[in-house]
Amino acid sequence: KLYNEVQDLKGNIRVYCRIRPFLPGQSRKQTTIQYIGENGELVVINPLKPGKDSHRLFKFNKVFGPASTQEEVFRDTQPLIRSVLDGYNVCIFAYGQTGSGKTYTMTGPNATSVVDWGVNYRALNDLFNISQNRHSSIAYEPNGLAVPDASMHPVKSTSDVLELMSVGLMNRAVGATALNERSSRSHSILTVHVRGTDLETNAVLRGCLHLVDLAGSERVDRSEATGDRLREAQHINKSLSALGDVIFALAQKNPHVPYRNSKLTQVLQSSLGGQAKALMFVQLNPDVESYSETISTLKFAERVS
Ligand code: ADP
Ligand code: MG
Repeated sequence: KLYNEVQDLKGNIRVYCRIRPFLPGQSRKQTTIQYIGENGELVVINPLKPGKDSHRLFKFNKVFGPASTQEEVFRDTQPLIRSVLDGYNVCIFAYGQTGSGKTYTMTGPNATSVVDWGVNYRALNDLFNISQNRHSSIAYEPNGLAVPDASMHPVKSTSDVLELMSVGLMNRAVGATALNERSSRSHSILTVHVRGTDLETNAVLRGCLHLVDLAGSERVDRSEATGDRLREAQHINKSLSALGDVIFALAQKNPHVPYRNSKLTQVLQSSLGGQAKALMFVQLNPDVESYSETISTLKFAERVS
Protein backbone atom coordinates (compact mmCIF):
# COMPACT_ATOMS: atom_id res chain seq x y z
CA LYS A 1 0.00 0.00 0.00
CA LEU A 2 1.45 3.31 -1.04
CA TYR A 3 -0.58 5.53 1.23
CA ASN A 4 -1.33 5.33 4.90
CA GLU A 5 -3.93 7.96 5.04
CA VAL A 6 -5.28 9.16 8.34
CA GLN A 7 -9.04 9.61 8.35
CA ASP A 8 -10.57 13.01 8.72
CA LEU A 9 -10.30 14.27 12.24
CA LYS A 10 -13.43 13.92 14.24
CA GLY A 11 -14.97 15.55 17.23
CA ASN A 12 -12.93 17.62 19.58
CA ILE A 13 -9.57 16.06 18.96
CA ARG A 14 -6.97 17.79 16.85
CA VAL A 15 -3.57 16.42 15.99
CA TYR A 16 -0.66 18.61 14.94
CA CYS A 17 2.68 17.27 13.82
CA ARG A 18 5.87 19.20 14.58
CA ILE A 19 9.24 18.30 13.15
CA ARG A 20 12.27 19.57 14.95
CA PRO A 21 15.25 20.87 12.97
CA PHE A 22 18.64 19.22 12.84
CA LEU A 23 20.54 20.76 15.71
CA PRO A 24 23.49 23.09 15.20
CA GLY A 25 26.76 21.26 15.58
CA GLN A 26 25.14 17.94 14.77
CA SER A 27 26.76 16.40 11.73
CA ARG A 28 24.28 16.68 8.89
CA LYS A 29 22.35 13.44 8.63
CA GLN A 30 19.86 12.23 6.06
CA THR A 31 16.27 13.28 6.64
CA THR A 32 13.22 11.06 6.62
CA ILE A 33 10.92 14.00 5.84
CA GLN A 34 10.19 14.17 2.15
CA TYR A 35 7.23 16.49 1.87
CA ILE A 36 5.16 18.78 4.07
CA GLY A 37 1.87 19.97 2.59
CA GLU A 38 -0.07 23.14 3.37
CA ASN A 39 -3.08 21.13 4.47
CA GLY A 40 -1.46 18.85 6.98
CA GLU A 41 0.05 16.26 4.63
CA LEU A 42 3.34 14.68 5.55
CA VAL A 43 5.34 12.23 3.45
CA VAL A 44 8.13 10.30 5.12
CA ILE A 45 10.67 8.07 3.44
CA ASN A 46 13.35 5.69 4.50
CA PRO A 47 16.40 7.19 2.73
CA LEU A 48 18.32 3.97 3.29
CA LYS A 49 15.74 2.00 1.30
CA PRO A 50 14.69 4.28 -1.53
CA GLY A 51 11.97 3.24 -3.94
CA LYS A 52 8.35 4.10 -4.21
CA ASP A 53 7.27 1.64 -1.54
CA SER A 54 9.28 3.54 1.03
CA HIS A 55 6.99 6.58 0.79
CA ARG A 56 4.26 6.92 3.32
CA LEU A 57 1.67 9.68 3.48
CA PHE A 58 0.14 10.82 6.76
CA LYS A 59 -2.44 13.52 7.30
CA PHE A 60 -2.77 15.84 10.27
CA ASN A 61 -4.78 18.94 11.07
CA LYS A 62 -1.52 20.78 10.54
CA VAL A 63 2.18 20.05 10.13
CA PHE A 64 4.79 22.44 11.50
CA GLY A 65 8.09 22.06 9.67
CA PRO A 66 11.58 22.44 11.15
CA ALA A 67 11.63 26.19 10.51
CA SER A 68 8.39 26.91 12.36
CA THR A 69 8.64 29.26 15.31
CA GLN A 70 7.22 29.00 18.81
CA GLU A 71 4.97 31.92 17.97
CA GLU A 72 3.55 30.21 14.87
CA VAL A 73 2.85 27.05 16.82
CA PHE A 74 1.10 29.02 19.53
CA ARG A 75 -1.01 31.00 17.09
CA ASP A 76 -2.83 27.80 16.13
CA THR A 77 -3.19 26.73 19.75
CA GLN A 78 -4.43 30.01 21.18
CA PRO A 79 -8.17 29.66 20.41
CA LEU A 80 -8.24 26.36 22.27
CA ILE A 81 -6.60 27.94 25.28
CA ARG A 82 -9.00 30.83 25.29
CA SER A 83 -11.93 28.43 25.35
CA VAL A 84 -10.84 27.46 28.89
CA LEU A 85 -12.08 30.88 29.98
CA ASP A 86 -15.47 30.01 28.51
CA GLY A 87 -15.67 26.98 30.76
CA TYR A 88 -14.20 24.25 28.56
CA ASN A 89 -11.79 21.59 29.74
CA VAL A 90 -8.79 21.32 27.47
CA CYS A 91 -5.88 18.87 27.28
CA ILE A 92 -2.76 19.59 25.27
CA PHE A 93 -0.25 16.76 24.89
CA ALA A 94 3.20 16.43 23.42
CA TYR A 95 3.92 12.89 22.25
CA GLY A 96 7.10 11.50 20.72
CA GLN A 97 10.40 9.79 21.32
CA THR A 98 13.00 11.37 23.60
CA GLY A 99 14.79 14.19 21.80
CA SER A 100 11.94 14.90 19.37
CA GLY A 101 11.12 18.31 20.85
CA LYS A 102 8.23 17.64 23.28
CA THR A 103 9.66 19.86 25.99
CA TYR A 104 10.73 22.45 23.42
CA THR A 105 7.13 22.74 22.21
CA MET A 106 5.51 22.72 25.65
CA THR A 107 8.04 24.68 27.70
CA GLY A 108 10.72 25.92 25.34
CA PRO A 109 14.48 25.62 25.67
CA ASN A 110 14.84 28.44 28.13
CA ALA A 111 12.26 30.27 30.22
CA THR A 112 14.22 33.50 30.33
CA SER A 113 13.99 34.08 26.60
CA VAL A 114 10.49 35.21 25.71
CA VAL A 115 10.75 34.44 21.96
CA ASP A 116 11.62 30.85 22.88
CA TRP A 117 8.68 30.44 25.22
CA GLY A 118 6.71 27.29 24.56
CA VAL A 119 2.98 26.70 24.73
CA ASN A 120 2.88 26.58 28.55
CA TYR A 121 4.15 30.09 29.20
CA ARG A 122 2.32 31.62 26.30
CA ALA A 123 -0.91 29.94 27.40
CA LEU A 124 -0.57 31.19 30.97
CA ASN A 125 0.36 34.65 29.85
CA ASP A 126 -2.71 34.73 27.66
CA LEU A 127 -4.98 33.42 30.39
CA PHE A 128 -3.70 36.00 32.87
CA ASN A 129 -3.99 38.85 30.40
CA ILE A 130 -7.53 38.00 29.42
CA SER A 131 -8.65 37.13 32.92
CA GLN A 132 -7.58 40.51 34.25
CA ASN A 133 -10.31 42.00 32.13
CA ARG A 134 -12.79 39.30 32.98
CA HIS A 135 -12.16 39.02 36.73
CA SER A 136 -11.36 35.32 36.50
CA SER A 137 -9.13 33.62 39.02
CA ILE A 138 -6.52 31.01 38.28
CA ALA A 139 -5.04 28.21 40.31
CA TYR A 140 -2.21 25.98 39.27
CA GLU A 141 -1.18 22.43 40.24
CA PRO A 142 2.31 20.85 39.80
CA ASN A 143 0.43 17.59 39.26
CA GLY A 144 -3.09 16.25 38.92
CA LEU A 145 -4.89 16.27 42.28
CA ALA A 146 -5.62 12.58 42.07
CA VAL A 147 -1.88 12.00 42.24
CA PRO A 148 -0.02 11.48 45.53
CA ASP A 149 2.10 14.50 46.54
CA ALA A 150 0.23 16.87 44.25
CA SER A 151 -0.57 20.30 45.60
CA MET A 152 -2.59 23.27 44.42
CA HIS A 153 -1.42 26.90 44.53
CA PRO A 154 -3.27 30.12 43.77
CA VAL A 155 -1.24 32.25 41.37
CA LYS A 156 -1.36 35.86 40.26
CA SER A 157 1.02 36.03 37.35
CA THR A 158 2.97 34.00 34.84
CA SER A 159 6.12 34.43 36.92
CA ASP A 160 4.43 32.82 39.96
CA VAL A 161 3.76 29.85 37.71
CA LEU A 162 7.29 29.77 36.31
CA GLU A 163 8.60 29.50 39.84
CA LEU A 164 6.25 26.65 40.68
CA MET A 165 7.09 24.89 37.45
CA SER A 166 10.79 24.88 38.18
CA VAL A 167 10.01 23.21 41.51
CA GLY A 168 7.81 20.70 39.69
CA LEU A 169 10.59 20.02 37.20
CA MET A 170 13.08 19.27 39.96
CA ASN A 171 10.59 16.81 41.40
CA ARG A 172 10.20 14.82 38.20
CA ALA A 173 10.78 11.11 38.73
CA VAL A 174 14.28 10.48 39.98
CA GLY A 175 16.41 7.49 39.08
CA ALA A 176 18.85 8.87 36.57
CA THR A 177 21.28 11.74 36.76
CA ALA A 178 20.84 13.54 33.45
CA LEU A 179 17.75 15.75 33.46
CA ASN A 180 16.72 14.77 29.95
CA GLU A 181 16.92 11.12 30.79
CA ARG A 182 14.93 11.74 33.94
CA SER A 183 12.19 13.64 32.14
CA SER A 184 11.99 11.05 29.39
CA ARG A 185 10.84 8.52 31.96
CA SER A 186 7.93 10.41 33.48
CA HIS A 187 4.89 12.36 32.37
CA SER A 188 4.71 15.97 33.40
CA ILE A 189 1.23 17.42 33.87
CA LEU A 190 0.69 21.11 34.49
CA THR A 191 -2.96 21.74 35.33
CA VAL A 192 -4.52 25.18 35.47
CA HIS A 193 -7.99 25.75 36.93
CA VAL A 194 -9.81 28.86 35.86
CA ARG A 195 -12.93 30.21 37.49
CA GLY A 196 -14.65 33.05 35.76
CA THR A 197 -17.99 34.75 35.30
CA ASP A 198 -20.08 34.74 32.19
CA LEU A 199 -20.25 38.42 31.31
CA GLU A 200 -23.83 38.16 30.06
CA THR A 201 -25.51 35.82 32.52
CA ASN A 202 -23.20 36.21 35.54
CA ALA A 203 -23.05 32.42 35.82
CA VAL A 204 -19.85 30.96 37.25
CA LEU A 205 -17.73 29.27 34.57
CA ARG A 206 -15.11 26.70 35.47
CA GLY A 207 -12.56 25.55 32.96
CA CYS A 208 -9.46 23.51 33.25
CA LEU A 209 -6.33 23.31 31.13
CA HIS A 210 -3.95 20.34 31.26
CA LEU A 211 -0.56 20.81 29.63
CA VAL A 212 1.05 17.42 29.32
CA ASP A 213 4.65 16.69 28.37
CA LEU A 214 4.47 12.91 28.01
CA ALA A 215 7.27 10.47 28.76
CA GLY A 216 9.37 9.41 25.76
CA SER A 217 7.47 6.95 23.56
CA GLU A 218 10.52 4.94 22.49
CA ARG A 219 10.51 1.22 23.02
CA VAL A 220 13.07 0.16 25.57
CA ASP A 221 15.24 -2.71 24.44
CA ARG A 222 14.46 -5.69 26.64
CA SER A 223 18.00 -6.91 26.34
CA GLU A 224 19.35 -3.65 27.77
CA ALA A 225 16.87 -2.78 30.49
CA THR A 226 16.46 -4.89 33.59
CA GLY A 227 14.80 -4.64 36.99
CA ASP A 228 13.32 -1.27 37.93
CA ARG A 229 14.32 0.28 34.63
CA LEU A 230 12.44 -2.37 32.68
CA ARG A 231 9.37 -2.17 34.91
CA GLU A 232 9.36 1.60 34.56
CA ALA A 233 9.59 1.34 30.79
CA GLN A 234 6.72 -1.15 30.71
CA HIS A 235 4.67 1.24 32.83
CA ILE A 236 5.32 4.12 30.46
CA ASN A 237 4.42 2.04 27.42
CA LYS A 238 1.27 0.89 29.14
CA SER A 239 0.13 4.40 30.05
CA LEU A 240 0.87 5.75 26.57
CA SER A 241 -1.07 2.95 24.94
CA ALA A 242 -3.91 3.48 27.44
CA LEU A 243 -3.97 7.14 26.42
CA GLY A 244 -4.04 6.07 22.77
CA ASP A 245 -6.94 3.70 23.51
CA VAL A 246 -8.94 6.44 25.24
CA ILE A 247 -8.46 8.95 22.45
CA PHE A 248 -9.19 6.26 19.86
CA ALA A 249 -12.45 5.33 21.63
CA LEU A 250 -13.45 9.00 21.78
CA ALA A 251 -12.62 9.57 18.12
CA GLN A 252 -14.69 6.51 17.21
CA LYS A 253 -17.53 7.76 19.41
CA ASN A 254 -17.36 4.43 21.17
CA PRO A 255 -19.73 4.41 24.19
CA HIS A 256 -17.15 2.57 26.29
CA VAL A 257 -14.04 4.66 26.94
CA PRO A 258 -11.36 2.72 28.86
CA TYR A 259 -10.24 5.46 31.26
CA ARG A 260 -9.43 3.10 34.08
CA ASN A 261 -6.50 1.37 32.45
CA SER A 262 -3.89 3.87 33.61
CA LYS A 263 -3.35 6.57 36.20
CA LEU A 264 -2.68 9.05 33.42
CA THR A 265 -6.09 8.58 31.80
CA GLN A 266 -7.82 8.52 35.21
CA VAL A 267 -6.30 11.86 36.15
CA LEU A 268 -7.35 13.40 32.84
CA GLN A 269 -10.73 11.68 32.63
CA SER A 270 -12.87 14.76 33.25
CA SER A 271 -10.98 16.61 30.54
CA LEU A 272 -11.08 13.91 27.88
CA GLY A 273 -14.42 13.30 26.24
CA GLY A 274 -17.78 15.02 26.60
CA GLN A 275 -17.46 18.71 25.84
CA ALA A 276 -13.73 18.68 26.46
CA LYS A 277 -11.21 19.47 23.74
CA ALA A 278 -7.86 17.84 23.14
CA LEU A 279 -4.84 18.71 21.06
CA MET A 280 -1.90 16.43 20.54
CA PHE A 281 1.46 17.57 19.22
CA VAL A 282 3.09 14.62 17.54
CA GLN A 283 6.79 15.38 17.65
CA LEU A 284 9.29 14.00 15.14
CA ASN A 285 13.05 13.86 14.95
CA PRO A 286 13.86 14.01 11.19
CA ASP A 287 17.05 12.01 11.56
CA VAL A 288 17.36 8.82 9.49
CA GLU A 289 18.47 6.99 12.63
CA SER A 290 15.04 7.73 14.12
CA TYR A 291 13.18 6.26 11.15
CA SER A 292 11.63 3.30 12.93
CA GLU A 293 10.63 5.39 15.98
CA THR A 294 9.21 7.99 13.61
CA ILE A 295 7.04 5.36 11.96
CA SER A 296 5.83 4.04 15.29
CA THR A 297 5.05 7.61 16.44
CA LEU A 298 3.12 8.21 13.22
CA LYS A 299 1.20 4.98 13.64
CA PHE A 300 0.15 6.09 17.10
CA ALA A 301 -0.96 9.42 15.64
CA GLU A 302 -2.85 7.71 12.84
CA ARG A 303 -4.81 5.73 15.36
CA VAL A 304 -5.81 8.66 17.58
CA SER A 305 -6.70 11.10 14.82
P1 ADP B 1 12.13 15.85 24.26
O1 ADP B 1 11.49 16.68 25.33
O2 ADP B 1 11.13 15.27 23.29
O3 ADP B 1 13.06 14.80 24.80
P2 ADP B 1 13.57 18.28 23.68
O4 ADP B 1 12.45 19.25 23.67
O5 ADP B 1 14.42 18.24 24.89
O6 ADP B 1 13.05 16.81 23.35
O7 ADP B 1 14.43 18.56 22.37
C1 ADP B 1 15.69 17.90 22.14
C2 ADP B 1 16.69 18.94 21.65
O8 ADP B 1 16.25 19.54 20.42
C3 ADP B 1 16.86 20.10 22.62
O9 ADP B 1 18.21 20.51 22.56
C4 ADP B 1 15.96 21.18 22.04
O10 ADP B 1 16.35 22.49 22.42
C5 ADP B 1 16.09 20.94 20.54
N1 ADP B 1 14.86 21.30 19.81
C6 ADP B 1 13.70 20.63 19.84
N2 ADP B 1 12.79 21.21 19.06
C7 ADP B 1 13.38 22.27 18.51
C8 ADP B 1 12.94 23.28 17.60
N3 ADP B 1 11.70 23.31 17.10
N4 ADP B 1 13.84 24.25 17.24
C9 ADP B 1 15.09 24.23 17.73
N5 ADP B 1 15.57 23.31 18.60
C10 ADP B 1 14.73 22.34 18.98
MG1 MG C 1 11.61 16.44 27.38
